[in-house]
Amino acid sequence: MRTRTRRIDDAALVQPGRGLTLRTGASRIRLVDRRVLALGRGEGAVIAGLTAIGSMVSALFVAQGVLVARTLALVFDGAEFAAVVPWLGAIVAVLAVRSALVWTYQTRSAAAAGRVAGRLRSRLYRQVTDLGPGWAGGQRSGALQTTLVDGVEQIESYFRLFVAQLIVSLLTVAGVVAALLVIDPLIGVVVGVLVVVAAAGPAISWRFLGTGLRHWWTAAPALSAEFVDSMQGASTLKIFGASALRGEDLKARSADVLDANMALNRVEHAWLQPFSLAGAAAGVSAIWIGIARLDAGAISSTSLLLVLLLVGEALRPVAETKRALHFAMQGMGAAEGVLEILDAEPAAREGELTLSHGTFGVSDGRTALALDGVTLRYRPGDEPALDRCSIEVGAGERVALVGPSGAGKTTVASVLLRFFVPQSGSVRVGGIDVAQLELDSLRHSVGLVPQDAYLFTGTIADNLRLARPDASEAEMLTALEQAAALEIIARLPDGLASDVGERGNRLSGGERQRIAIARAFLTDAPILVLDEATSSVDVESERTIQAALDRLSVGRSVLMIAHRLSTVRHADRIVVLDNGHVLDIGTHDDLASRPGRYRQLLDADQADRS
Ligand code: ADP
Repeated sequence: MRTRTRRIDDAALVQPGRGLTLRTGASRIRLVDRRVLALGRGEGAVIAGLTAIGSMVSALFVAQGVLVARTLALVFDGAEFAAVVPWLGAIVAVLAVRSALVWTYQTRSAAAAGRVAGRLRSRLYRQVTDLGPGWAGGQRSGALQTTLVDGVEQIESYFRLFVAQLIVSLLTVAGVVAALLVIDPLIGVVVGVLVVVAAAGPAISWRFLGTGLRHWWTAAPALSAEFVDSMQGASTLKIFGASALRGEDLKARSADVLDANMALNRVEHAWLQPFSLAGAAAGVSAIWIGIARLDAGAISSTSLLLVLLLVGEALRPVAETKRALHFAMQGMGAAEGVLEILDAEPAAREGELTLSHGTFGVSDGRTALALDGVTLRYRPGDEPALDRCSIEVGAGERVALVGPSGAGKTTVASVLLRFFVPQSGSVRVGGIDVAQLELDSLRHSVGLVPQDAYLFTGTIADNLRLARPDASEAEMLTALEQAAALEIIARLPDGLASDVGERGNRLSGGERQRIAIARAFLTDAPILVLDEATSSVDVESERTIQAALDRLSVGRSVLMIAHRLSTVRHADRIVVLDNGHVLDIGTHDDLASRPGRYRQLLDADQADRS
């Protein structure tokens, strides 16, 4: 017996503002949706071709029926074997041509669906990039992966197995019922009505699938997210002995996915019996009426055989559509999440202006960076992370941002790079409002050296070329030298071609930081935001990194997010931030000489060291 684990409340899975999870409640999911079909744009001709091939396949099924009926009629009439052979030959030819057409149909539809999926993946990648780090940071990676990877696969199956099939089925049923009507109107009408009854099952059950599908597309991404999180944090779970507890949570989520699956299965299969009954009724009625018509001399025995074979052909497309419906259902369920991502509006709209590095040289006395009365709430109703915050960095100046954890220092960097858009106030770079700038131009002009540099799986050179794709080996080596990182590659077996491991896990935190500094040398942005590493690197590395950052800062305008007061003494100005407010601005000597938040921070720092 399956022990029922804690049932997860849908409401707990639906996180407001996260965009990915689907609203539960409304139950209607469309079978054919204009927007989903639009994802197949460019494949219209192929889908039309597939429909034609599929219709030919159906026509050959009917032709086979006619030939078999003719052959049997000949045999029953006592014809010579030699007279039957050409008919048998024709049946074999029909089978051969049909196999070739089915093969063509399958390979072409797989290729078309593959192209649709490929284009969709590229579109989603561009969209997720445009939505930016602010959006991506609010998503759970496992959930995002389920929608982006599994969702696209389901949509691929929808195009591969459903779209053309649906049209072929409708055409075939219409054609076969029309043929029956010609042979005998009464049989045609009865079979036609019963086929519609058989097809009504999936059409009705479809109306009830929406809730189950949305449940599945909420439960499955939540399970993936939890799973990925657990794998990534496996060592933390071990340290706290929390693996078993987490395992229970995963079990509950797994049970939730199973529940969703079972609910879908129950609805999906509910109509199977009515379908079989309607099919059997169509066959029995056709035989019954057919025999009566034969007795009355209204139809020939060949026509009766033909009727029996055609009834099977009228039901075949309904059965095939039923199989295809399963994929349509999954595809349409997936499409909701995928379209939701495609519909999401990037927080930052792009402007058209570009900055050339020459437009704000250090010597012309212009303001490099300015936040003017900026207020930012991460979510409506939150306390502001920045509250009417004004900060300026002049050209060539080095300004440090200090304040306790949670003061809003990282948020300042995020609004500068337009990862988040403030609700009020303005942000200017080189005197231009960032809203008017192309994002690429902004991000090439403002270099960021983050606290914990992200290194991609690959070589040191791959990671450096992110900053400048055309960098030569010599340029990379110079950048590494300036970042005091040459010794890292000297120690590695393959120099620049050495693999850094997943997320750079073959390097220490300090080494990753220096690779990030080398990247900043390669980007050569005139403005820098340095997010000083809080992670404790040893004193020796700290000094090396500080010296590299000092070299990097020469000739640039720098905003330094300082987590240690020891590094800010030589800043031109220090901005003291607390609770999203700018409390004070001045040099170290200036601020240290008067009572205030900076003095308190200094005292606390000294107390910590002693
Ligand atoms: P600091 O860098 O000074 O430690 P942050 O700028 O990271 O501070 O954070 C300022 C405030 O904004 C904090 O209260 C923090 O919890 C909140 N915050 C930071 N990032 C986010 C985010 N992505 N979503 C919601 N709140 C956030």
